[in-house]
Amino acid sequence: MLNKQGPGKIDWTDWTWNPVSGCLHGCEYCYMRRMEKRFPGIMEPKFRPEYLEKFKQVRKVKPSDKIFVGSSGDMWGKWVPGKWIGEVLNECALRPRIIFQFLTKNPSNYHGWALSENMWFGTTDDGTSRTENNIFELIRSVYPHMIRFVSFEPLIKKPLLNLTTFKHLDWIIIGADSTRGAKKPPMEWAEYLIATARNFNIPVWVKDNYGYPDRIKEFPEVKK
Ligand code: SF4
Repeated sequence: MLNKQGPGKIDWTDWTWNPVSGCLHGCEYCYMRRMEKRFPGIMEPKFRPEYLEKFKQVRKVKPSDKIFVGSSGDMWGKWVPGKWIGEVLNECALRPRIIFQFLTKNPSNYHGWALSENMWFGTTDDGTSRTENNIFELIRSVYPHMIRFVSFEPLIKKPLLNLTTFKHLDWIIIGADSTRGAKKPPMEWAEYLIATARNFNIPVWVKDNYGYPDRIKEFPEVKK
């Protein structure tokens, strides 16, 4: 229920954890959708309260480890019952020394929850019109004293950045579509994002799947 991550996997976190899984967004590049033939039903929204229970006994997670919650779906999707989200947030708030990282294509759903400072809130911008308001919604929905980040992965088009919202970000991740045979995004798109982030002192993490020549692996400073 907790899966170790690192180089060759999701390298910006230590673990993934999926008490809520499944997704109805229907992105064409979704790795889960490709697995659906082998594992029918994996895209159906599911809640696993037993994962919350088991988490209480997990000794292998160190304080200050990072856990990406919801790598197998979108736990902030419009279809997800509030009770599921509330139970996961309660569990995370009980462990203030661990960092819980959330990522969604529906960042307006962060609004209105009791969020704790050991949680990082992210949204995806893949450069397409589907995600064009996501940064604005993220900034609007999460308090500025919390970590707000954007995953530009997989970059499908060059993102159109609105600097008045971009400058409020605490971290960006840049990555490519990992589907076998997928076209690699141009280096120029990554260079544009890195240069813009540098202008605002925003830390950058470039995933190995982009093939970018420089190794850039920076984390945000935890806000106090
Ligand atoms: S949001 Fe993520 S899990 Fe959902 S369809 Fe898109 S890629 Fe798949």
